[in-house]
Amino acid sequence: MSVYVFGHKNPDSDSIVGAIAISYLKNQLEDEEYIAARQGDISDETKFILDKFNGTLPILKTSVAGERVYLVDSTDKVHFQDDIDEATILGIIDHHKLGDIMTSTPLECWIRPIGCSNTVVKEVYDALGVDIPKDIAGMMMMAILSDTVIFKSPTCTKVDTKAVKELAKIAGIENYKELAMEMFIVKSATAGASARDLNTKDYKPFDMNGEKVGVNQLEMIDISALDDRIDEIYADMVKMKEEEGLHTMIVLLTDIMKEGSQLLCVSDDPSKIEAAFDKKLLNNQMWLEGVLSRKKQVIPFVQPQFN
Ligand code: MG
Ligand code: MG
Ligand code: MG
Repeated sequence: MSVYVFGHKNPDSDSIVGAIAISYLKNQLEDEEYIAARQGDISDETKFILDKFNGTLPILKTSVAGERVYLVDSTDKVHFQDDIDEATILGIIDHHKLGDIMTSTPLECWIRPIGCSNTVVKEVYDALGVDIPKDIAGMMMMAILSDTVIFKSPTCTKVDTKAVKELAKIAGIENYKELAMEMFIVKSATAGASARDLNTKDYKPFDMNGEKVGVNQLEMIDISALDDRIDEIYADMVKMKEEEGLHTMIVLLTDIMKEGSQLLCVSDDPSKIEAAFDKKLLNNQMWLEGVLSRKKQVIPFVQPQFN
């Protein structure tokens, strides 16, 4: 019986590349077949990575009842298939807060507070003595550069920078920062995208003490490109809050060059967001200097407001 490896809904590059890299690793070590999977469409950024390094698109898997699975890049139930409780989880590789996934059988678990799941994957390859193929090394390197925002994110550790350097060597890529900038240019493109496309680009819902809080993040080289679309984005946030039954919907327009985020928010209680960041909202917005990471600089401050 095959094992499906996949990351969170609305997959990012870490989720897709993680599924590819973990399934290859497992297929070198175990008899059963591991298959790379995904829960939704890939982004332009991920397509750029797969095209560059001859990656195969993981198969779409939206239901997993009765299946054996291996998770990457989240342990929050809300980020997985609705029937995830009916699957047997064999293992997890992640770099987020521990979520609410429960298992009924023993599992292997590699969770580290570092910049990217693929850095953890790299450590597992090294620990188990498996060589990383050239193209997979290239994809893993790009996933780490994406998650760490080219080492600028406060989530980035020495382990991540070291992993990128080693993976770049294997992949034969000399100027990996230049390639990463090319990737962020692809990621920054908003022309032709509807407000809903933008608001769901990197959207994640969180359960905060029974209230649903949705946080979308757009990582861009220059967020001023969206200046004349703020009203349209805000109007769609209001709609999305309604449709998803959210207490609060947040959009982070993260400027990776200015190194900060413009936070947009629609909330049943905006004072919670003001308290989280000790700052007043002006026209439902606030600038958060130095904030690049949703998982390290946003969620840990918003969550306690709901406790
Ligand atoms: Mg992710
Ligand atoms: Mg990640
Ligand atoms: Mg990310």
